[in-house]
Amino acid sequence: MDDKAKETLQARREKVSRVHRMKSMIVFTLILWVIVSLLLMIFLSVKVVMLSQDVDNLKKVILSSSGSKTSKKANGNNTIQADQELLMQNSAEDNLADANDTLKVYLTFDDGPSDNTDRILDILDDYNVKATFFVNGRTDDHSKKMYKRIVKEGHTLGMHSYSHKYSEVYASLASFKKDFEKIQNLLYDVTGVVSTYYRFPGGSSNRVSNSDMSEFIKYLNQQDITYFDWNVMCGDATTSGYTKDDLVENVMKDVVKYKTSVVLMHDAADKDKTVEALPKLIEKLQQKGALLLPISEDTTLIQHVSLSSK
Ligand SMILES: [Zn+2]
Repeated sequence: MDDKAKETLQARREKVSRVHRMKSMIVFTLILWVIVSLLLMIFLSVKVVMLSQDVDNLKKVILSSSGSKTSKKANGNNTIQADQELLMQNSAEDNLADANDTLKVYLTFDDGPSDNTDRILDILDDYNVKATFFVNGRTDDHSKKMYKRIVKEGHTLGMHSYSHKYSEVYASLASFKKDFEKIQNLLYDVTGVVSTYYRFPGGSSNRVSNSDMSEFIKYLNQQDITYFDWNVMCGDATTSGYTKDDLVENVMKDVVKYKTSVVLMHDAADKDKTVEALPKLIEKLQQKGALLLPISEDTTLIQHVSLSSK
């Protein structure tokens, strides 16, 4: 090999090792970047959890220090409502079950009556179980028959608004009152019973209503009407995406947590799976030793939100 060839070889070797070094640098930088990003993500996640705890604590402090009064701007115009009552988020702590508590389970059916109401009433009759029906306003013969059957067979007849149209029911206090009176009067005319139980369409914590829910809650309180939300959902709010066994499982995994469980179910016309799930659900609950009861004055209140004062 002559000198020139040696020099070329040397130069090539240096070039190769330079490329090698650069590659290593790039890989190292990438790895470092990934590690730093991961650490940052973990740090931020922890921070978010801590902040949301702070927010919860602050809410509690505000609720306990400001008492029942707060002021809020009314929707639309600029008048200030000075005596607006504060809505309280209710916690379930008192309702947590110990291993040897007898579970009280209140099955509740919303959005009926329909043909499925008939089928559900048959099943409840077979098992001699009483439940609660939060009904909407319907004036056809079959619906009237269902209202009567619910009462006659010892179930609780509750109201779930006449129209179930959020935009109407929650449009204003006046329209809420109108809708409320319409359903209460219909049920009284058909069954002779003054229903004193109510379930808000969407629940008391619904985010659909543009109006302040405290107005409606206050009104129901004044009328001596007790509203119930739910703490257990069977999962039949949609019409598909679940099996009847899913519905049973959803209830069974949650009822064991509470002394009192109010179970949200539906008896609308398209809720066939709820009907099909019911026998197995009742059997499983009875095997657990649960008491299946209709809502009454003795029922522990299950409300998502309530007024801080009446
Ligand atoms: Zn409903």
